[in-house]
Amino acid sequence: MKFKATTFYMLLILLLGTLEANAQRTIIHAGNLVDGKSDEVQREVSIIIEGDKIISVENGYTNGRNNDTVIDLKNKTVLPGLIDLHVHLEGETSPTRYIEPFTLDDADLAYRSTVFLEKTLMAGFTTVRDLGGSGVNISMRDAISKGYVIGPRVITVGKSIATTGGHADPTNGRNKLLMGDPGPNQGVINGVDEARKAVRQRYKNGADHIKITATGGVLSVAKSSDAPQFFEDELDAIVQTAKEYGMHVAAHAHGAEGMKRAVEAGVLTIEHGTKMTEEVMELMIKHGTYYVPTISAGKWVADKAKVDGYYPELVVPKALEIGPMIQNTFARAYKKGVKIAFGTDAGVFPHGLNGREFGYMVESGMPEMETIKSATMTAATVLGMQDKIGSIEAGKLADLVAVDKNPVKDISTMENVSFVMKNGVIYKQ
Ligand SMILES: [Zn+2]
Repeated sequence: MKFKATTFYMLLILLLGTLEANAQRTIIHAGNLVDGKSDEVQREVSIIIEGDKIISVENGYTNGRNNDTVIDLKNKTVLPGLIDLHVHLEGETSPTRYIEPFTLDDADLAYRSTVFLEKTLMAGFTTVRDLGGSGVNISMRDAISKGYVIGPRVITVGKSIATTGGHADPTNGRNKLLMGDPGPNQGVINGVDEARKAVRQRYKNGADHIKITATGGVLSVAKSSDAPQFFEDELDAIVQTAKEYGMHVAAHAHGAEGMKRAVEAGVLTIEHGTKMTEEVMELMIKHGTYYVPTISAGKWVADKAKVDGYYPELVVPKALEIGPMIQNTFARAYKKGVKIAFGTDAGVFPHGLNGREFGYMVESGMPEMETIKSATMTAATVLGMQDKIGSIEAGKLADLVAVDKNPVKDISTMENVSFVMKNGVIYKQ
């Protein structure tokens, strides 16, 4: 009996050894390589992929073994899969957007989002952080990771947390019959106990992180775009409870006071940051808070606010004021030395146009290579996934994209990604 078992294991080891030697690998010949870490564009590199991982990166073009698949990207620039830290995959801008909560069911949102998911992935974004929807985005994340639908790797906050009448109160602007009194489960809190409950509810629902709307916002049917909307004790309760579960907090904020309170409470990212003062910037540097600018969203809303009837009456003046300010805030924050992480607010503008943000950042004074790092290594670090994604090196997941031109010389090429691989699987070639 013992002899048989030993023989069996020996055969198994031999068999596994053979499989190992013949494992199907993919070798990418990259004409240019931007690896997400180095400041230099490397020339003529081979990236060797096995399963869902990069196993080595070698100088020169190697053909590997007989059964390796070689992909010729010799006339392209290969980069790590891009990461957008601010998207809303459940919906997309349109003049009929405001009636959707009354006409669409969760299943409608879910099926429609498959279109947005595919556009996002085809634009080269292999990982995104969804910063708020109805909660359908949690099922969406799981469906993608199980392979039921095609899309980027989704990290999600589920439903955002606001205070009563705040930016993410889902019943703003409704008549009294439809307004009700939403609570922590719906993402509306008042006071410390409800703040804790809302975070714990999101943990229970399966959210990865927490999003709060620290000040008013542009697209909510409410008057103020910049008033602070949480007290310090509520913010502390949210950030501390989130930490218990290993979740970080992202704070939407346009006004300086709300930003200041959020940064002091310990949020990880400030989203939009429109009226950021020097004082807030210094606080962010001190606390290590990241700024996620979303210039694309600012430009889009400022533009659409000029179209008659596109937004509700209450939204138009806010969009005209806030929208055009964000790019300049970004320029100031970058110059000051605030840590910048890439995010667009896709959904506020059409999904798949995320790559335009690179050009807007370059226009505002950030060098091309730095914009790419903000959307790769830096964004991966914000997600706590710096060991898995964000660069092209041995041991990382095989998330790779390619563009036709050298993005350091022509950043607009980031709007036309021609090759996409996620987890070692090619989605666009
Ligand atoms: Zn947003």
